[in-house]
Amino acid sequence: MSATRRTATNVLLDTALKNFYGAAEEMGLKDKLISILSHSERRLEVSVPVEMDDGSVQVFKGYRVQHSTALGPAKGGIRFHPDVDADECEALAMLMTWKCSLAGIPYGGGKGGISCDPLVLSVKEKERMSRAFAARIAPIVGTWQDVPAPDVNTGGQEMVWFMDTIGKMRGQVEPGIFTGKPILYWGSKGRNEATGRGVATCGLELMKVLGKNPEDMRVSIQGFGNVGSYTAKTLADAGAKVVAISDITGTYYSPKGIDLKKAFAQIQSHPKKLLEGFTCEGCEKLGISDVLFVDCDFLFPCALDGVLNDKTADKVKAKYVVEGANGPVTPDGDKILADKGVMLVPDFLANSGGVIGSYFEWAQNLQGFFWTEEEYNNRLIHIMKGNFKRVWDYAQAKNVKMRRAAFMTAIQRVADVEELRGIFL
Ligand code: NAD
Repeated sequence: MSATRRTATNVLLDTALKNFYGAAEEMGLKDKLISILSHSERRLEVSVPVEMDDGSVQVFKGYRVQHSTALGPAKGGIRFHPDVDADECEALAMLMTWKCSLAGIPYGGGKGGISCDPLVLSVKEKERMSRAFAARIAPIVGTWQDVPAPDVNTGGQEMVWFMDTIGKMRGQVEPGIFTGKPILYWGSKGRNEATGRGVATCGLELMKVLGKNPEDMRVSIQGFGNVGSYTAKTLADAGAKVVAISDITGTYYSPKGIDLKKAFAQIQSHPKKLLEGFTCEGCEKLGISDVLFVDCDFLFPCALDGVLNDKTADKVKAKYVVEGANGPVTPDGDKILADKGVMLVPDFLANSGGVIGSYFEWAQNLQGFFWTEEEYNNRLIHIMKGNFKRVWDYAQAKNVKMRRAAFMTAIQRVADVEELRGIFL
């Protein structure tokens, strides 16, 4: 008898469940494991009372979902956004389970957040909200329980408020309870560049297995924020020719290659860290989406989700796409690219340098000993290369696309550990 299938009204959660069931059935996963892994271990909803600057009290809703702790403590971000709800957190927590599993790190999947509009809150209101939320979720977070990290609209400052609050409640310093902390206070060197470095490493490994020399490869990169800029730099350092970069101000295209030093200098000097006004030899300014369609070999969408879809994917000229952003290719876009013969490295392999970097921060916090930036980078590249190879080999052996291969190897590791540990809770 087949296991009962969950459905959800929330689109993200429904998609996460459908993707899981699809892969699980293809893998022949046992029904008991399908039943266990299609549910979250814990969904916590909390009220977050905040004294506003005008003296009134506003009560926000907060969430923390732990999808699985089979492999280790739950890991995943905390976001501040009006759309946050329990189902969205559950969907994202489930994706974190697969991402951590694929990354080969000892974590399960979690996600949380507060339903709020951070843009209308003062810094003091945000601090009070962060501290009240931390106190509410304190019973289920901890170095060996659940280790949250920054996500949409949260960063190092929020992590410090969370850690400081729980530390004061428990009367002890517990640096490994949150990652993404500033270097000044228990953070790690190398974390800032980790995701982009990992994305570029996947691109370079793909070139290697295809027998292509990076110096002959022209690459285009959408987004020049944290992920895109360091992806570009790492690729250029390896010899690849970056012919296009972009941000919300447009696409900057030069068939001779973009001068990245100038591009970094441009964003450093711009008040909003944008490429606005950038130019270099042979550089032409194009429309915001043109970065996706320029003549190149490799395309790295590193900005937004859903950019390669039923309307845009057909215009892609690149033969290889490496997903730096989360979900830049929609299911329709995926099919169009596959029909065109475009090979794709999926997001939860390509951008896992971020969570691997968080694991390194946690490992250093446990040791109470800081690594050099060089050690951090070498370890990151070593792990990314191994993970790429594992997925590539699986895809070749089973004759499936890399996205499916990544998903199946990730689910398998969690399922194997569930079996090993046995059902108790
Ligand atoms: P960011 O805010 O630092 O940078 C985003 C960049 O995209 C900016 O250059 C912005 O100008 C550009 N952009 C925004 N809208 C655009 C548009 N319509 N067209 C072209 N460019 C546009 O964000 P980030 O941290 O680099 O994250 C980018 C993506 O990578 C997101 O999907 C994020 O979820 C994912 N990701 C980030 C990390 C990380 O460690 N930062 C880890 C994993 C996944």
